[in-house]
Amino acid sequence: MSFEEIKGQRRATRILQNEVATGSISGAYLFIGPDGVGKNLTALNFAKILNCKEGRIDSCDRCSSCQKIDRLCHPDLRIIEAKEGPIKIEQIRTLKRESAYSLYEGKKKVWIIRDADKFTQEAANSLLKVLEEPPPRVVIILISQTKEKLLPTVLSRCETIPFSPLSSSEIREILKGHVPLDSPKARLIEKLARGRAGEAIFLLENEDVLNLREKVLASLEGNLSLEQILQLAQNWKDLSSDQLERTLDVILSWFRDLLILKQGGDKWIINHDRMDRLKEQSERYSSSGLSKAIETVETTKRHLGYRLSTVLTLEDMWLRLRECQLTTT
Ligand SMILES: [Zn+2]
Repeated sequence: MSFEEIKGQRRATRILQNEVATGSISGAYLFIGPDGVGKNLTALNFAKILNCKEGRIDSCDRCSSCQKIDRLCHPDLRIIEAKEGPIKIEQIRTLKRESAYSLYEGKKKVWIIRDADKFTQEAANSLLKVLEEPPPRVVIILISQTKEKLLPTVLSRCETIPFSPLSSSEIREILKGHVPLDSPKARLIEKLARGRAGEAIFLLENEDVLNLREKVLASLEGNLSLEQILQLAQNWKDLSSDQLERTLDVILSWFRDLLILKQGGDKWIINHDRMDRLKEQSERYSSSGLSKAIETVETTKRHLGYRLSTVLTLEDMWLRLRECQLTTT
């Protein structure tokens, strides 16, 4: 894949191509924007362009360098991410050590640091030192959804490249050829993707996620008894962390929709295929009850991230959500 094929991020790719063309490449970049809009793909393709043997402003995708980066086995490419906790100082130290070695075969060493908002304090300080005296021939690409958790001193040393959600027509362009555009499934995926190309493709390829959503919404639409809540928490304890996060995101989208509906913003509704049920349910909550419900689900997401007991955390969430209603039955 080349820059030309990345959907909806012409502004970001043009800035980078312009720098390649004029030889004004920065030592450090910050790719900022929501998940699933093409930041990682752009970073990898930028690494290809920086090392492509044809030396143009887009990757050739044919030379040995482009192909090695596509297979993530180029010796001058490093990808760092937060795994099982934040990015640790050892990961940055290894990079620093390697930066002293000469290039193996490329023109630039490229460090792609995903989850740049998840550093230990020590690791963030160590990275800052690297940014203060950037090693020659190294291009560092930090990737993050938001700027808030990054040190201002790190921010000031990076060139920020903004990535935005794709428009509806850009998402439809991706769906075209996979699913009839006038089908309910296409409309649903377009809404659920919320401008994220990666999410649209994921939903196209993973029918089971749409089925999981159906089950979650059915639970939300019914008025669960205490027994059903306990059973549901048990049933969900075996979901993978990704499935659990998606499940909670469906619940969040539901309450967010109810709140939007109360404020009369129908066109922003995500679960538009459930409009009748949403309208019915919105009568059961006050705006403050819905804000409280949203806060409850967000707290649950955080708690599960700390690996507290899944069953207890989910039970607690459902019980609290029940309390958010104006009338419980
Ligand atoms: Zn190439």
